[in-house]
Amino acid sequence: MDDCIFCKIAHGDIPTDFVYSDEHVAAFRDLNPQAPVHVLVIPKEHYASGVAVEDASVWANLMSSAVKIARELGLEKDGYRMVINTGEQGGQTVPHLHLHLLAGRNLGWPPG
Ligand code: AMP
Repeated sequence: MDDCIFCKIAHGDIPTDFVYSDEHVAAFRDLNPQAPVHVLVIPKEHYASGVAVEDASVWANLMSSAVKIARELGLEKDGYRMVINTGEQGGQTVPHLHLHLLAGRNLGWPPG
C-alpha cells in the first residue's frame, strides 16, 4: 500500500528506531504514547485491520512477537496490556493492523 504510513515504516521508507523486527513483524514506539511504555506491533504485510486477516499465522506471528517484546522489555513483573482497535467504533485511526503494547502505569478499566 503506497500511501500507508505503517507500510512505509515497516519497509524502511521512514527512518524508525525499531524495538523489534523480523521477517513478518515490526515494532516501534507510538508517536503519541498513552503510557510510559507504548509500542506498536504490526505485521509487515498490509492488512487494513484484523477483519482482513484470513491466515491464522498472521495472528500467531503478531501475538507471539508481542509477548516476546513484553518479555524483552521486562514488562512481565508489573504487567502490561495488549489492545487491537478495530474499525470506527473500535477507535482505529490507522488502517494497517496494529497491536498496542501498553505498560508502566496502572491502566484503567473499562476503556473509554
Ligand atoms: P489506533 O487509534 O488504534 O489506530 O492507533 C494508531 C496509533 O498510531 C496511535 O496511537 C498513533 O499515535 C500512532 N501513530 C500514528 N502515526 C504514527 C507514526 N508515524 N509513528 C508512530 N506511531 C504513530
